[in-house]
Amino acid sequence: MTRTIETTLGPFPVATLGRVNAHDHVILEGGVTTVNEPDFRLDSVDKAAEELRRWRASGGGAVVDTQPFGCGRNVDKLVAVSEATGVPVVVSTGFQHRKFYLPDHWQYRYGEDAIYELLLAEVAEGVDGNSYDGPVVRRLPVKAGVVKVAGDYNYVQENMKRLIRAVGRLHQATGVPVFAHTEHGTAGDELLDLLETAGVDPARVMLSHLDRNPDFTLHRRLAGRGAYLQYDTPSRIKYQPEHLVVELMRRLFDAGLGSQILLGGDMARRSYWQAYGGGPGFDYLLRVFTPRLREEGFTGDEIEQIWVHNPARWLAGREQ
Ligand SMILES: [Zn+2]
Repeated sequence: MTRTIETTLGPFPVATLGRVNAHDHVILEGGVTTVNEPDFRLDSVDKAAEELRRWRASGGGAVVDTQPFGCGRNVDKLVAVSEATGVPVVVSTGFQHRKFYLPDHWQYRYGEDAIYELLLAEVAEGVDGNSYDGPVVRRLPVKAGVVKVAGDYNYVQENMKRLIRAVGRLHQATGVPVFAHTEHGTAGDELLDLLETAGVDPARVMLSHLDRNPDFTLHRRLAGRGAYLQYDTPSRIKYQPEHLVVELMRRLFDAGLGSQILLGGDMARRSYWQAYGGGPGFDYLLRVFTPRLREEGFTGDEIEQIWVHNPARWLAGREQ
């Protein structure tokens, strides 16, 4: 059975996505996000195409862009970047951490049914090219391939619990995979509990930024529940030195849980992009970090599992 995932280049068989960057930011513009932090403004199609060409030249395949509507998403530009580079981008719907919205955003006022319908339309019909900034909705041919939710630091905010119920219904209706943002790797169990109660299969959930809390016992437990653990600290030494994430990955493989690891760049700053004159760039994980894994004894099969097979399973489900 061929499973497909929706991308900027249409539905893609998951077996042909190649090495998947499970968490990154190709375009990010407008809204509270870039007003508060101008370094987050990634609005140039040309610069994004330059980064994705390097990513592709280093052996990269599809990229999951994790900025949903209302906080910096621009799907017209994502499509333009994909058409210029041939790199398929998986588009997100759903909700980022609350710091990315004004406190009067509609997510706090609309009922659960209305929120479910808005999410369902993005997955089943096509995303809103106007990013649900309203009142006019402009459906694009591109459908959302991932739905996002977000935890807070050591807890899950009340309104998010309501949004998660709508996301659970969406997952049950469409099978769309879930991207769960964690703050510094905390509240993973709470997020999984809430998602599971809402009807989401934990084996279709990715918990992001988990390596910002590189606690093996915690990771073993979350992976044992079936969730994917997404790591993105390589190169970002401000969070932790790289050897900690390498050791964490080794221990997970040794515990039989290597099938649950996903990697993402999360290069959501101009100063991280070579195209804007910064570094290390989108391709760091393949150009520098993957050779390091080989040097540290990871086998070719293990590396392909992390880059190719694990994301395919997360995005398309276990039957694939
Ligand atoms: Zn991110």
